[in-house]
Amino acid sequence: MAAVPEYFGSRVFDDREMKANLSAGVYKSLHRTIDQGAKLDIGVANAVANAMKDWAVAHGATHFTHWFQPLTGVTAEKHDSFISPSPDGGVIMEFSGKELIQGEPDASSFPSGGLRATFEARGYTAWDPTSYAFIKDRTLCIPTAFCGYNGEALDKKTPLLRSMEALNRQALRILRLFGNQDVKRVIPCVGPEQEYFLVDAGMYERRRDLRFTGRTLFGARPPKGQEMDDHYFGAIKPRVAAFMEDLNDELWKLGILAKTQHNEVAPAQHELAPIYATNNIATDHNQLTMEMMQKVAARHGLVCLLHEKPFAGVNGSGKHNNWSLATDTGINLLSPGETPYENAQFLLFLCAVIQAVDDYQDLLRIAVASAGNDHRLGANEAPPAVVSIFLGDELAAILGCIEYDAPYTSIDTGKVRLGVDVLPKFRRDTTDRNRTSPFAFTGNKFEFRMLGSANSIACANIMLNTAVAESLRVCADRLEGAEDFEAALQDVIRQIIQDHKGIIFNGNGYDDAWIREATEKRGLLNYPTTPDCVPHLLDEKNVSMLTAHKVYSRAELVSRYEVTLENYCKTIRIEANTMVDMARTEIIPAIQAFLLDTASAAAAKKALLPGCPCAYETGLVSQLSGLADQISLRAAQLEQAVLGLDGLEDIGKESQVIRDEVLDKMNQLRQPCDEAETLTARKYWPFPTYGDLLFGVR
Ligand code: ADP
Ligand code: MG
Repeated sequence: MAAVPEYFGSRVFDDREMKANLSAGVYKSLHRTIDQGAKLDIGVANAVANAMKDWAVAHGATHFTHWFQPLTGVTAEKHDSFISPSPDGGVIMEFSGKELIQGEPDASSFPSGGLRATFEARGYTAWDPTSYAFIKDRTLCIPTAFCGYNGEALDKKTPLLRSMEALNRQALRILRLFGNQDVKRVIPCVGPEQEYFLVDAGMYERRRDLRFTGRTLFGARPPKGQEMDDHYFGAIKPRVAAFMEDLNDELWKLGILAKTQHNEVAPAQHELAPIYATNNIATDHNQLTMEMMQKVAARHGLVCLLHEKPFAGVNGSGKHNNWSLATDTGINLLSPGETPYENAQFLLFLCAVIQAVDDYQDLLRIAVASAGNDHRLGANEAPPAVVSIFLGDELAAILGCIEYDAPYTSIDTGKVRLGVDVLPKFRRDTTDRNRTSPFAFTGNKFEFRMLGSANSIACANIMLNTAVAESLRVCADRLEGAEDFEAALQDVIRQIIQDHKGIIFNGNGYDDAWIREATEKRGLLNYPTTPDCVPHLLDEKNVSMLTAHKVYSRAELVSRYEVTLENYCKTIRIEANTMVDMARTEIIPAIQAFLLDTASAAAAKKALLPGCPCAYETGLVSQLSGLADQISLRAAQLEQAVLGLDGLEDIGKESQVIRDEVLDKMNQLRQPCDEAETLTARKYWPFPTYGDLLFGVR
């Protein structure tokens, strides 16, 4: 077996391949496009396309595709082969610069939230040269943005790139104020920790809820769950280890820096974290990672569940989005520095993030909204739906001293005067303990923990980047005109601390008392569900901020509102229909079969032992028969509730009725089904139980 450095990135047309396969002039010109966004000359594009194609064909590729990220949340691809007929009856392999730069998928079936009427079905894809092309299966995949004909973004990558640009613009203004002229770019860096479940494929196939919805809609608590805490960081079982090994290989070949893997809290739950990368590459890589997890699982007779809540009563899966700001000169702007000046700069960036998160709590909540994630947020296993920031006691104390101009005890020099004192070193362990906070400072980065495991990380980072860009803009506007920069800086920082300290919370985010304090005393927003938060995307303050930074147009925002709510409604409708179907065609018949056998056992017993009361059988038959009646009735009520949705005027209303009525009726139906499961002999139950699924992989 080859050593990892030998095959790492072997399926990627990365810088090593570009250098090896392009002429010096073409390579240089391409780099100007990659590094500075310079326009690509068609001659250069042709040369790059040809070299890419030769490389891809040598690696077994027959097709190419523009690989993009529509609003479905998964990636899309449409393959074209390289073949072109030659006069002698054969074919040659061709790929032009034009095909590399732009594609035209017929995109009429992707969600656009009304952005593109179907008669204007064409969209186009445009190469993102900052993310390397790669080979997946036998196809050369070219990472692209996806737009409509008037330039409207139909995907998640376009606004992400725009948000990175907005952040760069404003962060550079701040750096210039600190006298920094060398930095040319400020880049958000992201390391997403991905959680997932693995279940046996055979069992998965037998559960229609898992197949249709990605989560279990029924299932009684197993005798053993996660209460022993014996799974977290536990020894990895052989089948899972084989999966992880295979997955790492696949990811490494794709140039993805898979780094950390371990078992998570729930049985059958695991995590994978890569080494962090530039925001848009981290996003591409996370999409690929999710795809590879599913593909590799299938090879091992497993299914990878990325749903946020596959099982009731055990922890769901999230995705921690570690985020920092790096300069092209290699400095992390969220890392406290060595000199007082660096520390003043650090404090300003830190405070800018605090201000951003406070001012745009709603956008961060909206960015992670989905039917699946609603099960987690606030369910005492994931951060609550209330956004707050954890800074750690030490940093919070320093900010407190700045606010009141008071001495900071652990510094002998007395008052923390920006630009004068050296801040104390932050020990990582004092900043990294609280896992209940939605947004935690962890030494040199922020960890946004509200993302669901199935979410694309694009949305959260678009909102975070843009909110921070706006906050930096406000700071830069105030500082650029200042006569005494240092005094103005003190003022800006102190003012942010005063105005935004309500968002800082270092306590236990799972505590009910916190939610009360947050909402009643501090006035923080609490949007428990998707229908609660998504309408606020169109609040004027949000629209004007996002359009001012040119990250979204108003029409693009309306489309995101529509698509997010449509997705929510469709997801839950499918779940409800699946429940009705399973209850009627699997669960009731199973109960019925068991009832009949129990009743005939009683009859047989009575024939043998006249006068036998058959108390066990009679009790069971009566209990189960009552449950079957209840199930049948509640299935009908749920069905009615779903049918009732068809008459509603708009998607906003539909999402509210789903939240208030349909979800409730789903719970009503589930309850007698789960109870019946605990009473019915195992061999009658029509699908694998929670115990089977959670402990079935060895
Ligand atoms: P933990 O579970 O303790 O939070 P992990 O090692 O699972 O830590 O994940 C931490 C993630 O944070 C990794 O993806 C890592 O690469 C990423 N990370 C580390 N430093 C930075 C940084 N400066 N900016 C962004 N992400 C970072
Ligand atoms: Mg981790």
